[in-house]
Amino acid sequence: MAESRPPIPFLDLGAMHAQVRSELDAVWHRVVDSSGFVGGESVAEFESSFSAYCDQEFAVGVANGTDALSLILSGLGIGPGDEVIVPTNTFVATAEAVCNVGALPVFVDVDPATLLVTADHVEAALTDQTAAVMVVHLYGQTADMTALVPLCARAGVHLIEDAAQAHGARWNGGPAGSFGTAAAFSFYPGKNLGAFGDGGVVVTNDAELAMAVRSLANHGRSEADTHQHGVIGTNSRLDALQAAVLSIKLARLDEWNEARREIHSWYGDLLPAGVHQVEIASMASPVHHLEVVQVDDRDRMRERLAALGIGTGIHYPVPCHRLPAYERFRRGETASPLHVAETTADRLLSLPMFPHLGRDDVARVCAALGDVLAETSAG
Ligand SMILES: *Cc1c(COP(=O)(O)O)cnc(C)c1O
Repeated sequence: MAESRPPIPFLDLGAMHAQVRSELDAVWHRVVDSSGFVGGESVAEFESSFSAYCDQEFAVGVANGTDALSLILSGLGIGPGDEVIVPTNTFVATAEAVCNVGALPVFVDVDPATLLVTADHVEAALTDQTAAVMVVHLYGQTADMTALVPLCARAGVHLIEDAAQAHGARWNGGPAGSFGTAAAFSFYPGKNLGAFGDGGVVVTNDAELAMAVRSLANHGRSEADTHQHGVIGTNSRLDALQAAVLSIKLARLDEWNEARREIHSWYGDLLPAGVHQVEIASMASPVHHLEVVQVDDRDRMRERLAALGIGTGIHYPVPCHRLPAYERFRRGETASPLHVAETTADRLLSLPMFPHLGRDDVARVCAALGDVLAETSAG
């Protein structure tokens, strides 16, 4: 059967940008006229609106989300000899940030229903060397903050939020980025809030940490004297163009996140039996960065959907502890087996999800899934 209808991409940012096109076009002129390209007014403006958006006092714009995570760790003095607990079901950058500061990533399993890090697994992995727990609000849903916040407090370890997929998500009313010592967000173009290039931010209520991150991200400069370098830093700054674009898009973020919630509910109504959505915890108000489902025979399903012009993704095909660069961090026989992550990786499939996806597109994706499942059961 030839497919004559237009393809449904996995992600299409075009309609979002069309909606704010004239504002975006004006940005270039504004920034050129200002002659301030790195830092400056538009970065300060964005930082202050984004910290308010997260109910936090401070925001420091940086070059990307991975740096945001590393800079939090460095700013807290976490490094060689320290362990940082991370879920194995995440984008590799979470573990990469831990390794970049010389600390040891300790991988833990995830909940079978939400696929998120759990307090039980974290508790079992705590040792005297644990310095922090990096929780990941994966797919746009916050992890169980009701259990994880007091657990980290009791254990005396920092809770750091990797909120790269969760701009605007809430748990029991509180925004992602407001629960830990600090949180990192990414503005990679495909994220819910995306720049026109790389970008990231650290948010926190800790004034000292904010100052440390700002200094580390700017060659270790002291705020009082730009020629004083008290620490060895790096260059990881947010530029003015990205900040101006982000400010425009931040004003629409809630509207776009609401659209994602509606699309998620259409999937819920229309998905055929045998395709299982990730479960949403009752206290969570997610922003559905990704629409992840579990299916049998995933790779064949993906191919058949591709042939019908439907784009999909996999998040993530290999759990971090199975990646060649990270296998050496596995904990031998004392490790709790990472059973859920290992058994679900082959079943994960990410369906098209972006704010301007139509209900008829969702219906077409769901019908295609149903057709392929029927073919399979018919042999
Ligand atoms: C995107 C992402 C990152 C890294 O962000 P970059 O801006 O690409 O460096 C970190 N963690 C998670 C969960 C992500 O999805």
